Amino acid sequence: MTVTELGVPSLRRPVGAAPATGGLIDTYGRVATDLRVSLTDRCNLRCTYCMPAEGLDWLPGDELLTTAELTRLIGIAVTRLGVDSVRFTGGEPLVSPNLEPAIAAAAAMSPRPEIALTTNGLGLARRAARLKAAGLNRVNVSLDTVDADRFATITRRDRLPDVLAGLEAAAAAGLTPVKVNAVLDPVTGLDDAVSLLRFCLEHGYQLRIIEQMPLDAGHHWQRDNTLDADSILSALRAHFELEPDPAPRGSAPAELWRVLGPEHTGTVGVVASVSQAFCAACDRTRLTADGQVRSCLFSREETDLRALLRSGADDDAVEAAWRGAMWAKPAGHGINDPGFVQPDRPMSAIGG
Ligand code: SAM
Ligand code: SF4
Repeated sequence: MTVTELGVPSLRRPVGAAPATGGLIDTYGRVATDLRVSLTDRCNLRCTYCMPAEGLDWLPGDELLTTAELTRLIGIAVTRLGVDSVRFTGGEPLVSPNLEPAIAAAAAMSPRPEIALTTNGLGLARRAARLKAAGLNRVNVSLDTVDADRFATITRRDRLPDVLAGLEAAAAAGLTPVKVNAVLDPVTGLDDAVSLLRFCLEHGYQLRIIEQMPLDAGHHWQRDNTLDADSILSALRAHFELEPDPAPRGSAPAELWRVLGPEHTGTVGVVASVSQAFCAACDRTRLTADGQVRSCLFSREETDLRALLRSGADDDAVEAAWRGAMWAKPAGHGINDPGFVQPDRPMSAIGG
């Protein structure tokens, strides 16, 4: 089923109330089992497609979920709402004091969810083994180029060696498969994609190239200034032999390709969020660092679970609110619709 078949979000309103039992279903029949938890909106890099050089107005500390609030919400998701995988993100999750406690709490839940982390890798070298011991299963490290100068230009920080060390430590700690997330620069990105894939194949990391989405804080995104999946694949094909991965894709956002020798074999994924939206298969529910549930990265509506928790609501009430938020999930992100409006929150404050 495609998003077009599902209908235009603005024309279709949720009907009735969300079912009180079962999984986190929406009116299109999708069931969310993958929880993305943003631990902080702060970050120690300033990737140009994500944040301005001066940073942003960070969320005030008293608006952030405490460790106890966070683990209570994750517990409700896992034990009552059918969530079976939890990914911690941000902002930069490694700068949040909640990371290890939240991983350990999630790892102690029954049924135990799969626990993953998306990070820029700064400081990961020091912490990978500890995170593994706390219960982390695997990691995605963001890396847009293996060229140190370009890295410094894209992230506005000269920290490539720290990221490379973080990747090595993650692999050594068994946080596998280690995946590398790349958002390509519009000018140098096709060259970067080729050298990134070579680097990932050599090290046994799985590269995922993500189309740039309109989620930058400055609202400067322009389709013509981004690289789409077709051009990325053409560039890779000029250097590597690729064939479609035969494994069923399921709800995975990346279309996977097998890279055939002679030197190295492996896989590469392309996440065509804009040019070939996969909203019809979306299984995500999102919790921001200030306790708002979002049914979609591009939601313009949020459900305030922090206010519920702080008003003394019991787990039944929180569960019902979460179900209601997901029931109203729109059919698709609408980026390609003429009336598309970018959400107010940037990616770093939602959790990518
Ligand atoms: N700071 C961590 C990191 O960079 O991995 C976690 C948060 S970051 C927002 C999560 C992912 O979102 C990263 O892989 C990043 O490259 C990606 N991202 C950020 N802004 C994006 C955008 N406008 N379009 C597509 N992906 C984006
Ligand atoms: Fe920070 Fe991640 Fe955004 Fe880069 S993409 S500025 S590392 S939150």
